[in-house]
Amino acid sequence: MSDCIFCKIAAGEIPADKLYEDDEVVAFWDLDPQAPKHFLVIPKSHLRDSSALSEEDAALIGRIIRIGAHLAKENGLDDYRFVVNNGASAGQTVFHFHLHVLGGRVMGWPPG
Ligand code: 5GP
Ligand code: ZN
Repeated sequence: MSDCIFCKIAAGEIPADKLYEDDEVVAFWDLDPQAPKHFLVIPKSHLRDSSALSEEDAALIGRIIRIGAHLAKENGLDDYRFVVNNGASAGQTVFHFHLHVLGGRVMGWPPG
């Protein structure tokens, strides 16, 4: 999608501090971190949110979770939180599916 900031990051059209990249996934540090370590893992293909996922995306989303877990460990996180916001009132501000990985501090529950 031409006006999507995460599509532009995925395409290398705007810069991001990347931790990982392959043919279908990219991970980069969040611009406005909400924890000492906070990065995002996204599909390169544009998917709006979880409701846009089809059966064919199941393996891709599984890879995103595995990559998030691997990168968390690689960056010294034993404990961390995965977050996917879906819809504006749930906190989604960028409408391209992304997995938040947050760690390095104690997390509260329930989330705000
Ligand atoms: P959401 O609120 O949609 O769940 O999360 C979007 C996240 O993307 C936010 O944590 C925000 O700080 C981050 N973000 C928005 N624009 C950019 C950007 O251009 N670069 C990076 N690295 N992060 C961004
Ligand atoms: Zn996009």
